Formats: sequence, C-alpha cells, structure tokens
Amino acid sequence: MLKEKCVLCKVVCALVIIGALNWGLVGIADYNLVDHIFGVESVASRIIYTVVGLAGLAMLVGFFKGCPKCRECEVHERHEREIK
Ligand SMILES: [Zn+2]
Repeated sequence: MLKEKCVLCKVVCALVIIGALNWGLVGIADYNLVDHIFGVESVASRIIYTVVGLAGLAMLVGFFKGCPKCRECEVHERHEREIK
C-alpha cells in the first residue's frame, strides 16, 4: 500500500510512526527517546514535536481529501493498465 504513495506521503507516514512510537515508549517505559536524543525542552526537541504534529495534521487532511500527487499516480497507473 505504501509502495504506491508519493515521497511526501512516505515522509509524512514515517514521521507519524516516529511520533507514535515515541509516545508509546513514554506510556510503556516512561522513556522519551526524542528528549533523550535532543535534550529535554530543547529547541531541537520542539522542532521534532512540531514537525511530527504537522505530519499528523497532513495525514488527517490526506484521509479526507486524498493526496493530489498520489491520485495523479493512481490515474496514471490505471491509464497504463487500460492500454495494455
Ligand atoms: Zn501522496
């Protein structure tokens, strides 16, 4: 499923997974990997959280509106299949 997604969608998906795993780690082991790597309440950590949050937002929008770039690929692939 992910294979036919565009690069942007793959990046968004990866960021959401990173965010989810980090959150899971906080819940299960009380261990914040992002804070551990980039420092507690550091600028870098805040950038990571912001980017992950924006990726979640992008994914949410993608659920309802769909990604125009992916749709373009789908239409293109369908068209190619019809020719063959
Ligand atoms: Zn896409």
